[in-house]
Amino acid sequence: MIPVGFDYQRPESVDAALALLAEHGDDATVLAGGHSLLPVMKLRLAAPEVVIDIGRVAELNYIRVDGDEIAIGAGTRYRDIVISDVLAKECALLPAVTRTVGDPQVRHRGTLGGALAHGDPAGDLPAAILALEGTIVLRSPRGERKVPITEFYTGVFSSVKEPDELIVEIRVPRTGSTGWAYEKFTRRSNDWAIVAVAVVTAADGARRIGLVNMGSTPLRAKATEAALAEGKSIEEAAALAAEGTEPPADNAGTPEYRRHLVTVLTRRALQTAAG
Ligand SMILES: Cc1cc2nc3c(=O)[nH]c(=O)nc-3n(C[C@H](O)[C@H](O)[C@H](O)COP(=O)(O)OP(=O)(O)OC[C@H]3O[C@@H](n4cnc5c(N)ncnc54)[C@H](O)[C@@H]3O)c2cc1C
Repeated sequence: MIPVGFDYQRPESVDAALALLAEHGDDATVLAGGHSLLPVMKLRLAAPEVVIDIGRVAELNYIRVDGDEIAIGAGTRYRDIVISDVLAKECALLPAVTRTVGDPQVRHRGTLGGALAHGDPAGDLPAAILALEGTIVLRSPRGERKVPITEFYTGVFSSVKEPDELIVEIRVPRTGSTGWAYEKFTRRSNDWAIVAVAVVTAADGARRIGLVNMGSTPLRAKATEAALAEGKSIEEAAALAAEGTEPPADNAGTPEYRRHLVTVLTRRALQTAAG
């Protein structure tokens, strides 16, 4: 289908993008990689009057160590995350997860900021950043604020981001090259996850677990995390992974199937992360 007509703007700086957002308010939408927005516009589920393309805002494209965190520009494309030497050494979960997203075309266009702003509960990156307890940096004409991803999502495809705010940066801790795992279950290699589980070992040894496609937002496997902290075995803890989740029903599986699958994937991911 063809989208409703719109005005196209291509700012070259964050300030120019913010000025356009402020000028056009709710009538405007940001375009990054376009791999989620354009399908939605073609289906006419979104009909923005103004599309602000931030795809060429170079200042949003970087990956660098900053103290005990890694700072990643919101416009950084998946491919640059996959091939990043900094991330391979300092936060190896992220390239490993990103490598599983879609196909090469999607990974050359899609951006980390776009994935987090879109917030698809079936998306790989939101749950990975949740397991990492990352921070989302939002900027608007009113200034900048940092929102922990644990407080970012409010419901299905919705977040605390205001219409005039741009995600400018994502910050994740330097978790290193070991102690992580990502188990993504798909029917075919390029598919979206039926269920996926990201495990990260934090600096204090605690395991943090992010779940994909187990509810209306990306979720943490809180009962499993708590059981591990109490000293329960991986098998005992993983059996609790579906607690507090509300998985969807679709052609790929029933909620009961997903509740079983998540316990299997969590056990495997915890075993892999343990080395
Ligand atoms: C064929 C195909 C297969 C896919 N497979 C997978 C998969 O296996 N796993 C997966 O996780 N995803 C998958 N995706 C989705 C893909 O990851 C998207 O690219 C991603 O979710 C959105 O990133 P984007 O840069 O394309 O954002 P866009 O589509 O440009 O934007 C998405 C939303 O975010 C907003 N936005 C973008 N950037 C910002 C910003 N900096 N600040 C504020 N708002 C912003 C936009 O306004 C829009 O609402 C697939 C997509 C396709 C087309």
